[in-house]
Amino acid sequence: MTHYTDYDLEAYLDEALPADEMTSLEQQLRDDRGLLDRLAEINARRDGGVHSLGAIWRRHRLTCASRTQLGGYLLGILPEAESRYLEFHVEIVGCRLCQANLADLRNQQAEPAGRANIRRQKYFQSSAGYLKR
Ligand SMILES: [Zn+2]
Repeated sequence: MTHYTDYDLEAYLDEALPADEMTSLEQQLRDDRGLLDRLAEINARRDGGVHSLGAIWRRHRLTCASRTQLGGYLLGILPEAESRYLEFHVEIVGCRLCQANLADLRNQQAEPAGRANIRRQKYFQSSAGYLKR
């Protein structure tokens, strides 16, 4: 069993853990009564308006990027500081919303290239046929 710190549990409540850690924590919650109690306690404290430094930091610093920013990030045209921040947000914090957005943007960018490849293939196939004749 993994030992989770309060910080981990807070990140879990914020859905700020990497996806695989979210999953393993969820699995452990099912048969670790003590862990569940701690999570409930932290959640109750948060509902009471008491937030740890970590929670406040995440809420105010780790805001999500816009689609435009993410697009720029993919193209590598963002200012370095912004790009590094996004890398941290997506890779280290593992924001699932931004990861999903990035995957979506990657698909969109890949699509025209894919179509162009098919067109090129068709062109070669037809000209090969033409040469044979
Ligand atoms: Zn995000």
